[in-house]
Amino acid sequence: MSVPVFTSRSRLLLFAPHPDDESLACSILLQRAVRAGAAVRVVYATDGDDNPWPQRVLERKWRLNATDRRRWGRLRRTEALAALRVLGVNGFAARFLGLPDQKLTAMLMCNCQSALEHLSGIIAHWKPTDLLMPSISDTHPDHSALAVMLRLVLSESFLDPMATEQMTAWSYVVHGRSPTFFDRSGSICQSQREAAIKLRAIRCHTTQLKLSRKRFLAYASRPERLVKLGARDETIADGSIASVFRLRRSLRVALRLSPKAMRVSEPALFVLGRGEAGALRCVTMRVPARSSRVEIRDSASLDHVAGARYYGNAFAGQLTIPLSIFSSVSAIFVKLERRSWFFDEAGWLDIPPAKLQPIPEPQRDEVEANLVTVR
Ligand SMILES: [Zn+2]
Repeated sequence: MSVPVFTSRSRLLLFAPHPDDESLACSILLQRAVRAGAAVRVVYATDGDDNPWPQRVLERKWRLNATDRRRWGRLRRTEALAALRVLGVNGFAARFLGLPDQKLTAMLMCNCQSALEHLSGIIAHWKPTDLLMPSISDTHPDHSALAVMLRLVLSESFLDPMATEQMTAWSYVVHGRSPTFFDRSGSICQSQREAAIKLRAIRCHTTQLKLSRKRFLAYASRPERLVKLGARDETIADGSIASVFRLRRSLRVALRLSPKAMRVSEPALFVLGRGEAGALRCVTMRVPARSSRVEIRDSASLDHVAGARYYGNAFAGQLTIPLSIFSSVSAIFVKLERRSWFFDEAGWLDIPPAKLQPIPEPQRDEVEANLVTVR
């Protein structure tokens, strides 16, 4: 399993969903990039300002308003800059995008085109040789949503094999133990000195240590792990999604919802991708835990399929989702959202365009008609 090796010609670009992710996931990598004389840029998607429990405890204030959250966000920026200094990275290397904390999934599902253009502009301007980004398998919804946005940007504008730029993209996980990530990842052996500096960087995030001290400090002794993004990564099922099979006109998703997780809020299946005209489209399917009824709503274009209802076997069975609103030549992303507190059970799956399956047309229609009825 390969990991990045930096030289004085390297240009590292790290995307962090929140202030603290640079320290938790990439402290050793940042130290090595600095020692090699590489150029470093760190981009924070959010200020981590929607983080009420530590703020309530530290500020002894129950009700938090927008001003309180802005103040908290500024404090978290200061902590991130202090952590970067410990790692040898100048504060001028940091950029803060100020995207809505805890709401990146909602942004991804509704309207993220301007954010995609912004991210694309940052990459085009910095021209990284190595790009570090969160994994779509991370169980924090902000992490996996930012990962989907960056995959869209990279696949559409940068990781073209015909392009002249030499860039390698790597993903990291901060939350969860997804085998989809860990089974494919390479780990970075850290020296005692590097681990000690990492611990000092994590300690700069005082606000985060207040309620999660043990968990945060434990990151210092855990090796950093990365997965190198490839153009043709195989999709591996994760969480309650037991398998996914993409046909030319439909997607078959087998769900196996564990009884324990059934006690949390009603699960929803998200499908996101590009339409034929290039616009982002997304579909939300509510999956009631104890009913066979599945409602599909196209949140990108309600007038297109408003009121459409599809029926299928929703629980511990197979769903067939029509893909008519999606381009058949683009990747689609699928996630089963089952949150407990603010963590997901699993992240997103990246499903490449269907290889044309040798299934005769009438037979496929028959199979689909058995699984989905449109009313
Ligand atoms: Zn984070």
